[in-house]
Amino acid sequence: MSEPQKRAEAIVDLAAIRHNVATLRTRLSSAQLMTVVKADGYGHGMVPVARAARQAGADWIGAAVLEEALDLRAAGDTGPIFCWLTTPGEPLEQAIAAGIDLSAGAPWEIDELAAGVTDRPARVHLKIDTGMSRGGAVPEEWPTLVKAALKEVRAGRIEITGIWSHLSSSDEPKSAANEAQVATFASAVDVAESLGVAPALRHLANSGGTLALPETHFDLVRPGIATYGLSPFGHALPSSELGLRPAMTLRARFAMVKRVPAGAGVSYGLTWTAPKPSTLGLIPLGYGDGLPRHASNGAPVQVAGERHTIVGRICMDQCMVNLGDDEAAAGDEVILFGPGDHGEPTADDWADAAGTINYEIVTRLGARVPRRYV
Ligand code: PLP
Repeated sequence: MSEPQKRAEAIVDLAAIRHNVATLRTRLSSAQLMTVVKADGYGHGMVPVARAARQAGADWIGAAVLEEALDLRAAGDTGPIFCWLTTPGEPLEQAIAAGIDLSAGAPWEIDELAAGVTDRPARVHLKIDTGMSRGGAVPEEWPTLVKAALKEVRAGRIEITGIWSHLSSSDEPKSAANEAQVATFASAVDVAESLGVAPALRHLANSGGTLALPETHFDLVRPGIATYGLSPFGHALPSSELGLRPAMTLRARFAMVKRVPAGAGVSYGLTWTAPKPSTLGLIPLGYGDGLPRHASNGAPVQVAGERHTIVGRICMDQCMVNLGDDEAAAGDEVILFGPGDHGEPTADDWADAAGTINYEIVTRLGARVPRRYV
């Protein structure tokens, strides 16, 4: 008996991940590299991506939330891990005991970390808010944070391993915000040094900074999206021009193909009507799998080497593609997006159709879609 075939799958090219990590490294002079694998590796699979990144020379792995960092340790990653988003009451003691570097952006966060210490000091990166108004201490409160941290350093409860911040506008390298953030960051480092803190790691850059703003590299960079071969600059500077290879291909097989007469309305609300007799392919993927419903009536797909368009509303589990007069059969392959080098649509094309960014297209792909690693 032949192997049963899947309705759909996301093929994740780990060689592309390794290539992208190695390519990002070539952009650095002396800075270390942290590969960001939050949100299940931007939908690609956190643990396989982290392993591939380590193989390609990533010095650090970056996780947003505690569960991710602890899952990485549980999966056997013994290298440096930084986790930057904790919430009061979370099991910080577990992370500290596991040697995970954590972030603090307020004195009360220092207190929480100190309280979670048992047999080894907490490794802490102090966060300065350089202008994004997300986490971190605003410059006016920075000296208070540094002093609170120093008190716990003297008590042997914490070790200050880094000073860090995050760029708001590196997808627009010419934005004045980048320069302003670098200046604020540098002066925060000066203030910390004048108070007696000289951490080994100063870090600020995401993918945009890593690729386009060498002045943001400092001691460590934290690229996420570029690791997956997608450009933080969208169509303005496509990944191929950056030497990056998109790692994910989303494919499915038609659950049904049928001919409908002119005037047939398609999907909920009948928002598309066949202008002439048309062949429709039924794709067994919908917003329940993470396809953006906003991409209804417009997202591109590829069938037998030809581009076609999703027509009608994307449903929870399925959507329809207009094949016109092309022939196809149930079970045939349809590629929703991939690297783009064989004419298939890309995550950027889907982002355009949905009015979003490539980050969201890959990250939102649901757990119901099996990942296959090649
Ligand atoms: N660092 C932090 C703190 C982040 O939140 C993110 C993701 O948004 C990154 C690095 C990676 O960003 P990007 O995917 O744009 O490279």
